[in-house]
Amino acid sequence: MNVIAVQAQNLHKSYLLGATAVGALRGVDLTIQRGEFVAFMGPSGCGKTTLLNLIGAIDTPSRGTLCVDDVVLEKLSEDQLADLRRDRIGVVFQFYNLLPTLSARENVELPMQFKGTQRTERRERSMSLLERVGLKDRADHKPAELSGGEQQRVSIARALANQPVLVLLDEPTGDLDSVTGQGIMSLLRDLNQREKVTLLVATHDSMVAEASSRIIKLRDGCVESDSRAS
Ligand code: ADP
Ligand code: MG
Repeated sequence: MNVIAVQAQNLHKSYLLGATAVGALRGVDLTIQRGEFVAFMGPSGCGKTTLLNLIGAIDTPSRGTLCVDDVVLEKLSEDQLADLRRDRIGVVFQFYNLLPTLSARENVELPMQFKGTQRTERRERSMSLLERVGLKDRADHKPAELSGGEQQRVSIARALANQPVLVLLDEPTGDLDSVTGQGIMSLLRDLNQREKVTLLVATHDSMVAEASSRIIKLRDGCVESDSRAS
């Protein structure tokens, strides 16, 4: 069964800068099936982050329709959108966005707390996710006590907390040394191949692109090319 993970039709997004509208996305059409591992590439400013923010229901399009996990976003209420974000989509932001006053473990537990997961289960799952990203012994550290790569791994563990079907990552290896980057890539490949999680990654990194099964290149807010690994 092919379930559509993402379908965008004539998707536009403009930002108002003073009196000028900046067209960040200018008519994007694409369909991504569940289980795909897609790399969005293209020069800085081409619209990668904007597109991920729309797919993650963090921001709304100016025009066009967007269907995520088989539901049309514009038909959902604010509450339904919040549930979709909490339960089905994991987001790894470019600059991690961890809460500075919480430990690594508490950051990973937070989405489960919002969902109402029991404390014991939260504790077990957060520790097993931190172990999976190689940070079990850093569970009690605050973000400021962790390196960039470690914070990135905590933010990946947090994105997986509620077992999402779709994970969006914005330049996940951008700030990392290549060994840490490789560790993150093998984790992502594993998630995609073993757990069939749909992965959408904005990246400049050719290592990420090589691991993906499809590369969509954006240019000036439009899809320039769309190619699958043979
Ligand atoms: P990328 O992630 O590929 O570098 P972005 O999606 O961040 O590209 O940006 C696409 C375009 O939209 C750029 O021209 C950028 O300057 C503009 N843009 C992005 N976010 C905003 C914003 N909040 N306000 C105004 N312009 C924005
Ligand atoms: Mg970006």
